[in-house]
Amino acid sequence: DNMTGHAAPIAVAKGDGIGPEIMEATLKILMAAGARIRPVFIEMGAQQYLSGNTSGISPAAWDAIRENKVLLKAPMTTPQGSGYKSLNVTLRKSLGLFANVRPCLSLYPYVDTKYPETDVVIIRENEEDLYAGIEHQQTTDVVQCLKLITRPGSERIIRYAFEYARVFGRKKVTCMVKDNIMKLTDGLFHRVFNEIGAEYPEIQQEVQIIDIATARLATQPGNYDVIVTSNLYGDIISDVAAEVVGSVGLAGSSNIGTEVSMFEAIHGSAPDIAGKNIANPSGLINAAVMMLEHIGQQDIAGKVRNALLRTIEDGYHTADIYHPESSVEKVSTSDFADEVIARLGLEP
Ligand code: ATP
Ligand code: MG
Repeated sequence: DNMTGHAAPIAVAKGDGIGPEIMEATLKILMAAGARIRPVFIEMGAQQYLSGNTSGISPAAWDAIRENKVLLKAPMTTPQGSGYKSLNVTLRKSLGLFANVRPCLSLYPYVDTKYPETDVVIIRENEEDLYAGIEHQQTTDVVQCLKLITRPGSERIIRYAFEYARVFGRKKVTCMVKDNIMKLTDGLFHRVFNEIGAEYPEIQQEVQIIDIATARLATQPGNYDVIVTSNLYGDIISDVAAEVVGSVGLAGSSNIGTEVSMFEAIHGSAPDIAGKNIANPSGLINAAVMMLEHIGQQDIAGKVRNALLRTIEDGYHTADIYHPESSVEKVSTSDFADEVIARLGLEP
């Protein structure tokens, strides 16, 4: 595709709340950067739920996602009340999105953090563990939830983490488990980590117990590079790391499957600021950068990432990261996008 200049079709869901605003900003930047993509807009989210679709995803949207294999997704609002399934859980399970990848990079001094040295990528298993949804009620007062860890599932996520480290030139992979207590399940994950790690001798490797590891991630994040872990631990430490760099409006993430992959910002639909043209589009832009890397457009990805960082460094900040200083200008969502576009050609 790259060689022919052919535009890759990608499914695009505009989302709810601030979704349409940040998606418009993101697509404008991608097109200005010369991304070889063709957006195929699909219907999912609040409107679908309200028209009686309990999954929140229209049948045509399913077809478009499966056909195009790549989904760029803005945040969605799941209506309150029972009967509505979380759209993200449905997508993950139905599409087999086994890896959740969340980079957490400090943008200090432009975004305040106590840990400017933070540059960590968390790779979380996305289908197994206590999230497999195997729960039972034994009696009125006794309930149980089964922790499912498989060898193929562990191999796939751990290999993904090592391949990620190799491709992105990362030096170390840390595996986090609690195998001193859960000797079978976490023990298997630990063993598979050692086995697969042996195939990547050039990458440093370590295994840490999740409780102390979480505490260290919160206090010495600079000691981590790539982290691979199971579903529940990954859920918790992803939020710890995002908080450490103070970036709810800044971080993107990917959900990788064998067939389909989905790219999104880590934040929600922020209904409190929707429609005001003040939301920070950086999280979705970063997700789009990850998408471009995934489909082999490293050149455009680098160009967009660089322009985004330059814009923030040059002092154009949306309200969420704005601090009143003489050198910094508070800008709207659309003005921020225009500043990014103005920096697309610049050298890193
Ligand atoms: P959801 O249930 O959809 O995940 P949430 O309760 O986790 O939502 P968010 O929608 O992520 O909450 O918003 C949390 C807070 O962060 C809100 O006050 C919101 O205004 C702010 N926020 C979230 N995303 C952004 C953004 N891109 N730009 C600016 N502020 C944001
Ligand atoms: Mg949320």
